Amino acid sequence: MEHNLFLYNSLKRTKQLFKPLHEGHVGMYVCGPTVYGDAHLGHARPAITFDILFRYLQHLGYKVRYVRNITDVGHLEHDADSGEDKIAKKARLEQLEPMEVVQLYLNRYHHDMEALNVLPPSIEPHASGHIIEQIEYVKKILEAGYAYESQGSVYFDVEKYNRDHRYGILSGRNIEDLQNTTRALDGQEEKRNPMDFALWKKASPEHIMHWPSPWSEGFPGWHLECSTMGEKYLGEKFDIHGGGLDLMFPHHECEIAQSVAAQGHEAVNYWIHNNMITIEGKKMGKSYNNFITLEQFFEGSHPLLTQAYSPMVIRFFILQAQYRSTVDFSNDALQAAEKALQKMLDIYRRLQNLLPAEKSTVEVPDFMTQAYEAMDDDLNTPIVIATLFEAGKIINSATDGNAKLNAEDLSRLRLLFDTMLVDLLGIKTGTDEAGADMRPFEGAVDLLMDIRKNAKEQKDWATSDLIRDKLAALGFNVKDTKQGVEWSLK
Ligand code: ZN
Repeated sequence: MEHNLFLYNSLKRTKQLFKPLHEGHVGMYVCGPTVYGDAHLGHARPAITFDILFRYLQHLGYKVRYVRNITDVGHLEHDADSGEDKIAKKARLEQLEPMEVVQLYLNRYHHDMEALNVLPPSIEPHASGHIIEQIEYVKKILEAGYAYESQGSVYFDVEKYNRDHRYGILSGRNIEDLQNTTRALDGQEEKRNPMDFALWKKASPEHIMHWPSPWSEGFPGWHLECSTMGEKYLGEKFDIHGGGLDLMFPHHECEIAQSVAAQGHEAVNYWIHNNMITIEGKKMGKSYNNFITLEQFFEGSHPLLTQAYSPMVIRFFILQAQYRSTVDFSNDALQAAEKALQKMLDIYRRLQNLLPAEKSTVEVPDFMTQAYEAMDDDLNTPIVIATLFEAGKIINSATDGNAKLNAEDLSRLRLLFDTMLVDLLGIKTGTDEAGADMRPFEGAVDLLMDIRKNAKEQKDWATSDLIRDKLAALGFNVKDTKQGVEWSLK
């Protein structure tokens, strides 16, 4: 079938037919984590959203180069009390090398992403590994006349840029509004205008991460790393740039200004943003004490959680909403997602156990086309899930002996679940709710089922009953159905 993938483009504010710049190849850049703490829910949603896009583009036959950066320097999100860079502060408090802090949290981030079945990107560049490239990028902006040096720091001249181009095209803001709303932050006295943002910052004496540059011993501004590494690995113009909606302004707006200033044109063809997550109706924030880390979700170890939620429950829950809508986390909503996922996994297991009949007694609609149409419709994962549950009704009725499916229909259904549930939604089917690998365990129980079947055929009722009763004592439900034996954990 012909696939026409329509994606919402934040820059053009419309759903557009996706056309890559180079036939067969897609360049995709997604803003990655700032590594000075454990990953929380705010990290899970963009990672899962762009994992779905990464999987789907590859499924459609594109060769995808997916770059997701690691912000390990220059994020001007300073600690409110000391004004220190957060990585540097952590390093000082815990007596670690700054790179030890980065590695520690990066390892944990990777561990969490693996648990969520998020595929690793093609390239994961560190900002700290691209200082030379960032200095060269600043030079280009200075040469073009859109930046100025001030006391060892270099700032982007937003007002001048706005006279020649337009600052604010992505977020729809205009410079007049910004002039009235920009708060006074550090370095104001060095800037010509409060809106100007740092491309290079001179390091203060307590700043432990700094590098030499033509302007000062210092570090690059946060917005710069993405423009620089995007250009380095994907070229001056590439297909997709993604991230959370909170990055649209100022981060992505500043990236656009930087690339127009340095290259004379925008770098990105499609801007895609996932919407935010709230927790029980509230934004995640320090003041609400609701920054729940992924580890705390997996262990149920945060006071707001009534139980633990497995990585697959978190993933399934996030995919139950289209990526551009908001998602609200609550225990009730997560428990509902847990039940729905269990139902889905039961359907998947029953589908594997079904035996073909000579003739189908029900009509199996073209669920595959429906699911592809949903994926093509700006990655409408909730519709894909609803389609799988629709198919599940037929599978359940076949399992209960109320319907029969021939070999062709069975293989169509198996292809549907393997393609949509396993490959594209990335749901691990071989795990229990807690995320443990169940395959060896399932294999062992299936072996016992085979022995019991042989015993029954030889009318060895004692062995057959013994296996059933011992398994029941261990918490297994063994049911003899018309299709054969079915087992589940009670
Ligand atoms: Zn970025």
